[in-house]
Amino acid sequence: FRRKQPSAEELIAGILKGDKTALSRAITLVESTNPEHLAKANEVIKGCLPHANNSVRIGITGVPGVGKSTFIEAFGKYLTSIGKKVAVLAVDPSSSISHGSILGDKTRMEELVKDENAYIRPSASGDTLGGVARKTRETIILCEACGFDTIIIETVGVGQSETAVHSMVDFFLLLKISGAGDELQGIKRGIMEMADTIVINKADGDNVAKAKLAKTEFNRALHLFPAKSSGWIPKVTTCSAYEKTGIDGIWEIISEYFELVKSNHYFEEKRHNQNQFWMMETINEQLKSHFYNHPNIIQLLEENKKAVQNNEISPFAAAMHLLEQYFKK
Ligand code: GDP
Repeated sequence: FRRKQPSAEELIAGILKGDKTALSRAITLVESTNPEHLAKANEVIKGCLPHANNSVRIGITGVPGVGKSTFIEAFGKYLTSIGKKVAVLAVDPSSSISHGSILGDKTRMEELVKDENAYIRPSASGDTLGGVARKTRETIILCEACGFDTIIIETVGVGQSETAVHSMVDFFLLLKISGAGDELQGIKRGIMEMADTIVINKADGDNVAKAKLAKTEFNRALHLFPAKSSGWIPKVTTCSAYEKTGIDGIWEIISEYFELVKSNHYFEEKRHNQNQFWMMETINEQLKSHFYNHPNIIQLLEENKKAVQNNEISPFAAAMHLLEQYFKK
């Protein structure tokens, strides 16, 4: 016994009206592996696209325990209190492996979940980061069409997911904590370089002085990085997600950033580049997967691997042979 599924038109109409149930259903289609669902999802996205893009997209990363969910709850509540509509999405490719994601489980952000002007969606599961990233990008479009003007994309500060998130947001926030004298170690240089702001969380109680010290150190460290093409100079600040202090200052920094990049047109330029990048990424992924899943290639690949192993053919010649076989006919 199944309820009748709404049509693509009905979903689009619901989303444009701001209906969260329609939004959730459409996202489920985007996340499905069923080709029929995908076709319908594409139709819904097409209908939503003209109504998307009117948002700020903020990426938030930090290692587990740094306080991401506590922070996003406090930050999200602050944003809705000043009239924003906030969608929180997560990128966590580990969820399909561990069957219990590091991010996005339902018990987190209890206050924000109940907020009429907020929408929280846990990470799509997927075997590959590319798959999760695609679903998240399409989900952003749906959320924007549904009227959410502030999109927060959370990711865990381990592995490659920051790079994927960085390439789908306008602003990147790195959450840190002070302590153990390791302010500058243990941070992957690449992640720090991506950050538009570093926020030192848990600046409360005995931690306030240490957090201030960490702020000075991070500020100094940031000066060593090359200037950003946005023209923005990354800022370091402190907050307590727990005590909800410093949250408004973070929004001030973010607003300042958007003022700058909208006036110097970096904002549009970056979104344009991101769209081009994702188009090319999708082509690359599809080509690869089509190649490797081709029945003839699967067998030929095995044969050629052995031949390379036995020095019967050079790796280059083997690769060219396989590609020729693939592209012929
Ligand atoms: P996540 O793993 O990054 O999502 O971190 P959580 O939000 O789950 O927080 C990890 C722990 O740090 C929890 O026990 C929180 O209560 C605590 N925590 C989070 N933010 C703060 C803060 O601003 N101050 C203090 N003292 N503790 C915090």
